[in-house]
Amino acid sequence: MKKSIFTACCLSMVLLGNSSVYADQVVFQPGSVQGKDMWLSSVYNNTAVDDDKLQVGGWGDWYRTLIQFDLTDLPPVATSVDMYMYAYDRGDSSTPVSMIWYFLMSSWDEQTQDYYDPLSGGYLGVLPAPTPNSWYGILNITTAYNWWKAGTYANYGFAFLATDNNNQFNVFRSSDYSDYRYRPKLVVTYDGANLGFPLSGYTPYNAPISAVLDHSMTTGGGCADGLVVAYTNERGSSQYDHSNWYVYGESLSCVNDILYGYKNGNPGTVFSINNQYDTSSGNEDGYYLFYDGHTGYDYPIANTNVYAAASGTVTVPSPNPYNQVNIDHGNGFVTYYLHLSQIYVSTNDYVTKGTSLIGKTSDHLHFTVKKNGQRVDPYGWQGEYGTDPLQVSGNDNVCLWDFCQ
Ligand SMILES: [Zn+2]
Repeated sequence: MKKSIFTACCLSMVLLGNSSVYADQVVFQPGSVQGKDMWLSSVYNNTAVDDDKLQVGGWGDWYRTLIQFDLTDLPPVATSVDMYMYAYDRGDSSTPVSMIWYFLMSSWDEQTQDYYDPLSGGYLGVLPAPTPNSWYGILNITTAYNWWKAGTYANYGFAFLATDNNNQFNVFRSSDYSDYRYRPKLVVTYDGANLGFPLSGYTPYNAPISAVLDHSMTTGGGCADGLVVAYTNERGSSQYDHSNWYVYGESLSCVNDILYGYKNGNPGTVFSINNQYDTSSGNEDGYYLFYDGHTGYDYPIANTNVYAAASGTVTVPSPNPYNQVNIDHGNGFVTYYLHLSQIYVSTNDYVTKGTSLIGKTSDHLHFTVKKNGQRVDPYGWQGEYGTDPLQVSGNDNVCLWDFCQ
């Protein structure tokens, strides 16, 4: 006698309110190491199949999918969380099927779980059949996310079962799928530490940028030191795969360094922030980004007023070789403004976001954000193209700007 896999109880998902316009958002899309998802079936694949797809349905038998996200590095409280899986065409005569989903309440193993191992879970309802070759959104799993983060319930993820099995199959890309862009993902929106843009008359997305966190735009001389970081809405690029690699005479010993951070990526596609960097304007040697220990963003905007990005208490270093102002925002965040031509504030002044004039730029503003002493990328990481390389140093990069794009 086969055991039923679920002892179901009776949870229901409570809808939360809409997220704030000003909220921060992070897209979490783990790869094969961090991702935990698999499928199994009642006849041919009793034991978990941890391959590049996830299947739900059956043809007389039953296929089901289990998925669990490691939420460790994600915000503690979310205002909105949606989950997406990419559905694709199975390439046979099967048709999509609606799904029953469960809030899992017992642990499972991605490699050894058996179809007939007992599992318990809370019934969540019936979801519509997916449309192949499109993202399948499971919207508003906010309550589950917050329960998991708070420890109200242990995070064992969700199970998806078919409502019927008459040659009906849904097939999704898994976290092991080779093209990282199509792996399952979470979109997490939360209220964060919002920063205004410090330069009068600009936004984070229309200001010119001449150097970004951990990178310079120059290719001349020396090797990168092992980190390549992509930013909001970008994808990594490989100079190694670029036809100009040899033209610029870089040492081949740099190759492994430069590839790091997007080796799971898509070589040959440039980094870009708001299309500021691309190869279309001719000056190609300036358009590839390399780690050089730079701690912030350089905005080449001369002789322009600089305002406090958020409220806080000023420190003006003494001596002050970089003509710098620091603002401690009292919540673990400190912002740094360097290379000022004029400084209008003094140590221990309290400044307010957007209205307190703290100085004037020289030829550019260097702007750094730190959280608990660690530099962070205020443009955030939208993880669609893999794991945030900066998280190896303990950073949690989420968009900190008032208006995140
Ligand atoms: Zn700088």
